[in-house]
Amino acid sequence: MTDTIALVGKTMEELEELMVDLKQPSFRAKQIFNWIYNQKVSKIAEMKNLPKDLRKQLQQVAELEEFTVLNRQHSKDKTEKFLFQLTDGEKIETVYLPNQDGRRSLCISSQVGCAMGCNFCATGLQGLSRNLTAGEIVNQILMVERLTKERISNVVLMGMGEPLANYDQVLKAINLMNHDAGLNIGSRRITLSTCGLVPEIKQLADEKLQLTLAISLHAPTDQLRSQMMPINQRYPLDDLLAACDYYTKQTGRRVSFEYALVRGVNDSKDLAQKLASLLTGMLAHVNLIPINQVEQIGYSKPRQEAISSFKMELEKENIAVTVRRERGADIDAACGQLKAKED
Ligand code: SAH
Ligand code: SF4
Repeated sequence: MTDTIALVGKTMEELEELMVDLKQPSFRAKQIFNWIYNQKVSKIAEMKNLPKDLRKQLQQVAELEEFTVLNRQHSKDKTEKFLFQLTDGEKIETVYLPNQDGRRSLCISSQVGCAMGCNFCATGLQGLSRNLTAGEIVNQILMVERLTKERISNVVLMGMGEPLANYDQVLKAINLMNHDAGLNIGSRRITLSTCGLVPEIKQLADEKLQLTLAISLHAPTDQLRSQMMPINQRYPLDDLLAACDYYTKQTGRRVSFEYALVRGVNDSKDLAQKLASLLTGMLAHVNLIPINQVEQIGYSKPRQEAISSFKMELEKENIAVTVRRERGADIDAACGQLKAKED
């Protein structure tokens, strides 16, 4: 017996090939694509304009992947966190962030766990179990749209995992999000966040998509960054920033730098000045994130004055900077808190 074919994650071309295999006309692929990614049905039986025998045939060989919803938590700020179980039993988290300005963002995962071992991140503590497939990446959007009955307008690849360590499946998922016959979420409304895998940043630049690239920077010196983020030993700051410049050159897009402020570690005036001089001359934007509490990690947020004065040092040097508003911390849904455990 052959394995059941997963329909979610298939491209238009792959569906056309499936139709050839099933001896069906190729226009059926368009209809199926529309049912999956535009109508977002959860059952093959709901694909009403397909002939009955094709629906039957599909039900025999294929399935629309459904995750099991193990938990759905609501924050007082309207953020919601979903704990999904995948068909092999692995678990991931997805965070829904409705905004006052009408945007409805979804923070999605790209891997089960993460191998990068950043010393401030809950996902990093658990190590990597496996990559997600493109279908599992996109299905987070389909599932949340069905569960909330809202349309997702923006996607951030900032959930569990390092997206550029799962390059091919992530790119396939982005192309599926972009498709105007399906989810129709343009690249400008998608943000990809990376700890700084230099070869993949360059590869992504060459795709010439209009994605927003966010770099998890967190420290302006190699010594400190290597302590916090092991990846810096492989790709130090000079190489990372050169790759960011290349991204801007290829795409015309401004790069966003994430800087999680940790009291007594990376929040001094001296480091703010170092950060400013590192980014001067780049088309850059800095997002300051007061570090979120993670069990087993003894980091704490700086006081408000320290956050403001760090911000001021950057503004003095004309660096565009914002402080990220904390969302969903009461349900452990804030940046770096995802660990896909039911407790
Ligand atoms: N692996 C990718 C994307 C997932 S992490 C990356 O590292 O960029 C999403 C964001 O949360 C990153 O900017 C990451 O550095 C940040 N983050 C991780 N742990 C955090 C914590 N405890 N507090 C605040 N931000 C954190
Ligand atoms: Fe992985 Fe990103 Fe967490 Fe680092 S911050 S461990 S790269 S998920």
